Amino acid sequence: METQENLQKKWNLVLDILQNKTTDAFFNIWILNLQIKAYEDGIIYLLAQNKTHCTRIEEVGKDDIISSCKDVFGEKVTDIKVLLKEDFEKMDSFSSLFKKEEKVEEIKIDNNFLPKYTFENFIVGKNNDIAYAGAKSVAENPSGKWNPLFIYSGVGLGKTHLLHAIGIHLNKTKPHLKVLYITCQKFIVDYVNSIKSGQSNINEFREKYRNIDVLLIDDIQFLEGKKETQEEFFHTFKDLYEAGKQIVITSDKSPDNISTLEDRLRSRFKGGLIQDIIKPDFETKIAILEKKAEQENYNIEESAITFIAEKMDTNVREMEAMLGKVAFYANLKGKHFAQLEDVVLAMKEVVQVDTELLTAEKIIDVVSEYYGISRVDILGKKKTKDIADARQVAIYLICEMLGMPLVNIGKIFNGRDHTTIMHSRDKITNEIKENIRIRQCVEDIKENLKNIKS
Ligand code: ADP
Ligand code: MG
Repeated sequence: METQENLQKKWNLVLDILQNKTTDAFFNIWILNLQIKAYEDGIIYLLAQNKTHCTRIEEVGKDDIISSCKDVFGEKVTDIKVLLKEDFEKMDSFSSLFKKEEKVEEIKIDNNFLPKYTFENFIVGKNNDIAYAGAKSVAENPSGKWNPLFIYSGVGLGKTHLLHAIGIHLNKTKPHLKVLYITCQKFIVDYVNSIKSGQSNINEFREKYRNIDVLLIDDIQFLEGKKETQEEFFHTFKDLYEAGKQIVITSDKSPDNISTLEDRLRSRFKGGLIQDIIKPDFETKIAILEKKAEQENYNIEESAITFIAEKMDTNVREMEAMLGKVAFYANLKGKHFAQLEDVVLAMKEVVQVDTELLTAEKIIDVVSEYYGISRVDILGKKKTKDIADARQVAIYLICEMLGMPLVNIGKIFNGRDHTTIMHSRDKITNEIKENIRIRQCVEDIKENLKNIKS
């Protein structure tokens, strides 16, 4: 008897042939919803969903299906039988096959694709066009040119959205393919649980993951430092890849920057397309915000949307949250349309906390006052010990309290290199541990900053 996997592969070929023989409607509604169950003694056994399904196939599609099956399975095919689940369950030789199929059903349950995460709802700009094109190409032609497809970016820039979009598209256009979307965290938990419960569960775990056609795995950076799970993932990856299955991976870093990723896994990733998504530019931000407003039925004036796009340099998720907040504020005031004033109000809360009240400027001012050293000297090039000390403390506080990128801090300090900034930061970090005097200074300055803030 042929393995289920082989049968499925052949049935996929049959579907390709049938697609050209039948009308689109008949194909999509009736043929695609058949499942192949067995091939024995020249008879192909197919599972239908209900009585009408059986009748439609028997009356309209049967001859085409038989002839297409002959093309793929060979001339020995004499007939097809279209049966319901209960018919199969009555036949002893098929009942075990059915259990297997139920396991596959289980996998599908993992796929809670968010209906709004479609390609149509994804705004394409210069920041994400290649990642989008890669995802689209995979969705239209899995196991084609880009395998694996590896997409990476900072948070909230659309990686999960694209994975869902691929899944939604495939479910619609190729429902016979087994598509599994899974977060890396879930993969890890699944694996760990299966180890805990013994060999048979590991086998089940492996079977589940080896039994799919398209694997969409989200946030692979969580494999960092998990040696055993990486090993397991490597084998899953290798088996799927070698069986010609499509794999799509997302991460918050490029494979080169996931520090503890095994080299063999890294080099496998490099065999496909590795593409990043960066922050959207102004025009793209506006298009995204407008799309979101439309989707969520928010009425927001254009000037208000433009204002958000201008002021927010964060990720899309945060911009979306801001949009919700603005709509909420307008609603509180009983307005049907959110206006600029609502945005200003909503933004104030978010922006104030970290940028408006506490800035690098203010930290430098307070340090300058504390040490009695001028601003110009703190930012300048003089190397006298007390000036250098004050400068390093200021740099340390800006790093620690604002979490600003080192390169940007370097710019404030007269274009110093980011390694110089890093050196100052690390020096004070260490000194605080060992030197009570420095620790006291830093605490005093923080206290003074608090007074300024409030
Ligand atoms: P990530 O997985 O990269 O952290 P998500 O895919 O969860 O990001 O995206 C965060 C939010 O931003 C989602 O609501 C998503 O729909 C939205 N989003 C991100 N990029 C786009 C885009 N280009 N067009 C439309 N929505 C987007
Ligand atoms: Mg995500």
